[in-house]
Amino acid sequence: MQPEEFRRIGHELIDWIADYRAGIADLPVWSRVEPGVVRGQLPADAPEQPEGFAAVREDLEQIIMPGISHWQHPRFFGYFPANAALASVLGDLVSSGLGQLGLNWQASPALTELEEQMAEWMRRLLGLSEAWRGAIQDTASTSTLVALICARERITSHGATRGGLQAEELPLTVYCSGQSHSSVEKAALLAGFGWANLRPIGTDADHALRPDLLAEAVAADLAAGRRPCAVVATIGNTSTTGLDPLEPIAALCREHSMWLHVDAAMAGSAMILPECRWMWQGVELADSLVLNPHKWLGAVFDCSLFYVRDPEHLVRVMSTNPSYLQTAADGAVTNYRDWGIPLGRRFRALKLWFLLRLEGAEALRARLRRDLESAKWLAAQVDATPGWVRLNQVHLQTVCARHEPPGLSGDELDRHTLDWVGRINASGAAFLTPAVLDGRWMCRVSIGAEPTTRADVEHLWAAMRAEAEG
Ligand SMILES: *Cc1c(COP(=O)(O)O)cnc(C)c1O
Repeated sequence: MQPEEFRRIGHELIDWIADYRAGIADLPVWSRVEPGVVRGQLPADAPEQPEGFAAVREDLEQIIMPGISHWQHPRFFGYFPANAALASVLGDLVSSGLGQLGLNWQASPALTELEEQMAEWMRRLLGLSEAWRGAIQDTASTSTLVALICARERITSHGATRGGLQAEELPLTVYCSGQSHSSVEKAALLAGFGWANLRPIGTDADHALRPDLLAEAVAADLAAGRRPCAVVATIGNTSTTGLDPLEPIAALCREHSMWLHVDAAMAGSAMILPECRWMWQGVELADSLVLNPHKWLGAVFDCSLFYVRDPEHLVRVMSTNPSYLQTAADGAVTNYRDWGIPLGRRFRALKLWFLLRLEGAEALRARLRRDLESAKWLAAQVDATPGWVRLNQVHLQTVCARHEPPGLSGDELDRHTLDWVGRINASGAAFLTPAVLDGRWMCRVSIGAEPTTRADVEHLWAAMRAEAEG
């Protein structure tokens, strides 16, 4: 494709995306295609001859769009918000258009230096101290894996340079809350700790890790001849946005030389609001921290900020230095290949830069405050309505609730919950992802899609009551 053809089709495609966003509220929120239907319409082989954009566009509309679930829809209340603010979409387009690959600083100086500065802008917006240095990783899953590898290498004094975990005398143990994200467990397994050495710790009535139980588990491991290595604390866990108490956890980590990693993937965006920062009180005591601007904040996926307090340790653990990657500038610059797993690096900082510059921090704060208010409003409705029970503290944007009609319990109650939530989802009017909490299904309302107004939340609540109360 030559630039002139790109210009013509590109303009058409930008119009197409703008029309999609402008009309998204009228679409059913969630795709209802049956498995295999999309793939069944695609030819077995790639075309030998070019087909022209008109044919591609036709199939985009007829085959792909029915299989699209609309995360950017104002009545999307599932999982967590994954906002792709259009300002950041433009930045991502520039990234693709420039086709940069940041293997090291020299391979694309601006890629590295904008990333450094975006990590710095965000650090200041989040109210973090100057002790932190950051990089943009693809996902929180990767960031947490990198953190646990750093933890492993710190406590073993770089055991990987010798026999690795296989040569360790004592098994190393990792602790997290029983409400941690599945990526924590996966990271622990991939970092080589092993199932038998992962300790999910019990939580309190507010779904926060109990430091007393953590202390007991650490003591038991020490007594049994194991070596406590790391704790992953979550600020804003996935089911209920529970907040693990960082200060007592950090004290225990310090006492036993354990690494403390903070997973604030979802809730971290809220820390651009000074009034929310009490929620991660003690974060300065951690060794590493992850938060995802690709969730609530609005940077189009993928954009995960990973901060560490000791970049030298991180670089020592992650660096490889073959001759063809060495440059004269190496001593004076950041080579982000040594800050994570992949060698190649997309120009992700552009989408954050575009988002922050084209919207401004004030507008982002206002949007997040709007969502916090909407969540408080919904929580108040649940509290005030007979037959409804609220199941979490609503500090953030997620409300966990259950409709409990008199006489219904156990499996019958579960069936009732899944039925009424299922009817809302099937209607296309809104989308919710129920979850199991303490062994029972509940309805989880995650507010925070960019176009979601109070009116959308009011509409959802009316639908919840209508479907649940019958
Ligand atoms: C979303 C989420 C993750 C996983 O994020 P990815 O970037 O998709 O890997 C991990 N932890 C928490 C608390 C999350 O909310």
